Amino acid sequence: MGTSLPTLQIPDLPLPLYDDALLCADTARSYETASHLAASLVAQQFAAVTSPTTGPTPQQLAAKIDRVDLHQPLGSSEASFSELHELYFKDAVYFHDPKYAAHLNCPVAIPAVVAENFVTSINTSMDTFDQSAGATLIERKLIAFTAGLIGFDAEQADGVFTSGGTQSNLQAMLIARNTATAKLQGSLPERLANLRIYCSQDAHFSIRNAAMLLGLGYDAAVAIPTDAQHRMDAQALRDRLAKDLAAGLVPMAISATSGNTDFGAIDPLPELRAIATEAGAWFHVDAAYGCGLLISNKHRHRLDGIEQADSVTVDYHKSFFQPIGSSSLVVRNAPTLESIAHYAEYLNPRAEAEAVPNQVAKSLQTTRRFDALKLWVTLRSLGATRLGDMFDKVIALAEDAQQEVAMRTQLHMAADVQLSTLVFSFEDPQHPLELAEHNALANQIRHRLYASGEAMIAATTVAGKRMLKLTLLNPNTTLADISQILDAICRIGTSILAERTLGEKK
Ligand SMILES: *Cc1c(COP(=O)(O)O)cnc(C)c1O
Repeated sequence: MGTSLPTLQIPDLPLPLYDDALLCADTARSYETASHLAASLVAQQFAAVTSPTTGPTPQQLAAKIDRVDLHQPLGSSEASFSELHELYFKDAVYFHDPKYAAHLNCPVAIPAVVAENFVTSINTSMDTFDQSAGATLIERKLIAFTAGLIGFDAEQADGVFTSGGTQSNLQAMLIARNTATAKLQGSLPERLANLRIYCSQDAHFSIRNAAMLLGLGYDAAVAIPTDAQHRMDAQALRDRLAKDLAAGLVPMAISATSGNTDFGAIDPLPELRAIATEAGAWFHVDAAYGCGLLISNKHRHRLDGIEQADSVTVDYHKSFFQPIGSSSLVVRNAPTLESIAHYAEYLNPRAEAEAVPNQVAKSLQTTRRFDALKLWVTLRSLGATRLGDMFDKVIALAEDAQQEVAMRTQLHMAADVQLSTLVFSFEDPQHPLELAEHNALANQIRHRLYASGEAMIAATTVAGKRMLKLTLLNPNTTLADISQILDAICRIGTSILAERTLGEKK
């Protein structure tokens, strides 16, 4: 196990906490005190963290959490925070730590974290104007801003904040499905049966899940092969489309990925747009990861063609350094969002639709958090250029990190770095292994590294072969940090191989 942190210090508080349970005029000062305390605990904790994890097992944590009796409150927030330190803070996974290189999680912008306080204390709900007032207009302005970054005509475009890329992709596929079925004849089941979604074999699983949720079945999402850089192979797509069209199938959507999860690969957008137009298919771009390029000061051109998309998924909680959740779906033509609109007499009557800016008809959710505020406060405090610089720094770090991998004879890149991930294998030239052994070793390296608490990395499988993966989204991580992670991987891999050899000799 890694570092064990000291207990939290509860500072002296001017006011008792939770005298009254609910936040209202009379208790606002008690809320203020509690917030100071919470901020102090976060600051202490961040000052104490020296590794991304303590490497706990689920069993170790369950033993502590199972003991809590939720029928027996502790009676004070100081006590409940102290308990929480034991149960959660101590062994949480810290994405801001430079040795966290596992999944697509970023350190978060301070203005956004502080804005969470506004989001939850005022507790605005985004469904209707009469529950949100200015919040609706702030969200709409951020959607127009994002549409502008994409290169859409902000007057024509529209969109909505969502819980994440998964929901954005689902909504995009829902709009595409409704657009396609509106053009077809026959009963609904007949029309649905022939619809196909084309995405690359390296696309995010949420596209395939969307096909299932939308009643098309998993297999309606067709996985198109990729090139050596893991970008969708446009010729393979053309070939498959020709075959499917001949068989009477209907291309509902082409979903390109701009920054796929494993390799950061960006599918060839202009070419895929042309194919989609020819096939009469919706053209979606999943930029959940690559959206940071929209504000990049060096690499914006890599997204050229995105302005021709029909819809775009943007995860601000990945490459805009926002806390979870902060995501949007943006469409080029506002009326396309309306294919999911529903008007309820008790909430957003159709008769009001023109006069009142109600967001609910654009969303898959009803009651909805004011997540947009976090991005708003970040943009007003720091600005998009600053965020873009941070993403550029991460991209530069990943490129340098590739050199560090190349310097180690036991490590082999699976493909060149394209955004901020590195996928590589550990293979010792002295110890050639069968595939099954190789895969077991890769998993063991990752698990031992986690248990040591020293660093956190991810793993993925490429053509049946288990690979190690670094996902970099922290502009404060240095090349020295990466070098230490790679050294740890080589050290652990070598020692596991040595243990095996000893085992064989026995
Ligand atoms: C992360 C990711 C998603 C899913 O987004 P969530 O915010 O995790 O729901 C979709 N597509 C890609 C390419 C991603 O990297």
